[in-house]
Amino acid sequence: MMTTLTVDDSRTEVRAFLAEAWDPDLTVAQWWERLGESGWAAPTWPLEWFGKGLGRDAAAIVNDELRAAGAIGGPSGLGMLLAGPTILAHGTEEQKERYLRPIVTGQEGWCQLFSEPGAGSDLASLQTKAERDGDEWIINGQKVWTSGGQVAELGMLLARTDPDAPKHKGISYFAFPMEQAGVEVRPLREMTGRALFSEVFFDDARVRGDALIGGENKGWIVANTTLANERAGLGSGGGGAGGAAFPGRKAGMLEVRVGELGERTSRSGVQPANFGRAFGLLRTIAEKVGRSDDPIIRQRLVDLYSMNEVGRITGLRIKGALASGRGPGPEANTAKLMMSRICRLVRDLGPELLGPEAMITGSDTTGGGVVQELVLFAPAPSIYGGSDEIQKNIIGERVLGLPKEPGPDKSTPFRELKVGTQSA
Ligand SMILES: Cc1cc2nc3c(=O)[nH]c(=O)nc-3n(C[C@H](O)[C@H](O)[C@H](O)COP(=O)(O)OP(=O)(O)OC[C@H]3O[C@@H](n4cnc5c(N)ncnc54)[C@H](O)[C@@H]3O)c2cc1C
Repeated sequence: MMTTLTVDDSRTEVRAFLAEAWDPDLTVAQWWERLGESGWAAPTWPLEWFGKGLGRDAAAIVNDELRAAGAIGGPSGLGMLLAGPTILAHGTEEQKERYLRPIVTGQEGWCQLFSEPGAGSDLASLQTKAERDGDEWIINGQKVWTSGGQVAELGMLLARTDPDAPKHKGISYFAFPMEQAGVEVRPLREMTGRALFSEVFFDDARVRGDALIGGENKGWIVANTTLANERAGLGSGGGGAGGAAFPGRKAGMLEVRVGELGERTSRSGVQPANFGRAFGLLRTIAEKVGRSDDPIIRQRLVDLYSMNEVGRITGLRIKGALASGRGPGPEANTAKLMMSRICRLVRDLGPELLGPEAMITGSDTTGGGVVQELVLFAPAPSIYGGSDEIQKNIIGERVLGLPKEPGPDKSTPFRELKVGTQSA
């Protein structure tokens, strides 16, 4: 249900809420309880499900007001970004009751159990199996690149439930409990030195029948809702105000005093690279190292600024499309491609400004080591959430009307495809 609150009404209401509810001496868990219950943690969600039913424009002012008050925003991560919107779209009333409140109050963290060693771009070739056993499903297989897998309580799991159906039609989508004997999570260390993602192995793991979202063998439709939200969130910058804290018991932030959080998270360095803030950083570095009058550096900084602006304006178009009920369309694909270009420019311009200092890192180097981190993380955004080539394929097929790649995928049972004969 949508609300009739205007942008000005929303600003007044959120200010009144913050004046009464914000208290830096609360724990993160206590603050998120207040924020989540109030509807301001997820203002675009429906009124009846922990939201305010606001359009994206009005919701954006909530972030401004939270920042102005020095308050942290709602829980960051894949529960808010992906699982919540997917369950709102496809979940039963019981599933909304079960999963949405712990998302907005940050009590449970989520990960995305989609990609496998042989199924990334071609996600529908996934081989992890779910076999029915009474009221439960038994899961066997492997996922990879699972961001936050080591700290998540729940996962959005895609598994094959009918190998005799064509590959897109035999997949189901589960809200999968991560904390159980049949699950092994092995963190993967990236070249940044962090381990943001993991491999996840399932060995006779179990999930209850009532955790099946959207119906048996209907998982591809549900997954597309998750993926559309992912593209829209990644391209337009994602994240809410603050965004400093990870949800869930395992992430270990719920009992921290909320007023200390910003300082503590920046000290621990848990925040991954943020390309959205790179322009300001590189401009400051250019001044510091005496290159801000260099016409070539200036030109490249202007390129970066312009690309950020194009990304921001495309983000507004996505928000407009969502607000009018159209759902994220091709703007999400172009915004994601723009983000990849921004990352590559930052990767090249940052070290050019730093010179030999780009080869060492640490908080006492120019820029505090952030450029080096951005350089090492730069390949990732052009891969996750669908690689650049896949975004271009989608634009080619769905926007320009080019013919689809030929193949037997739509009609051949998964079991008979080369990938499926090995283990399904
Ligand atoms: C930092 C990071 C975090 C991630 N987090 C998650 C997560 O939380 N959960 C999750 O499920 N997954 C996650 N992923 C996985 C990500 O979605 C996949 O890496 C991505 O979809 C690409 O799949 P792949 O790695 O198997 O590459 P492949 O699909 O093997 O692709 C290899 C290359 O071939 C190209 N290619 C493939 N198919 C085509 C085609 N049809 N036309 C043209 N070119 C093609 C690709 O563009 C790429 O350049 C993450 C990845 C990264 C890098």
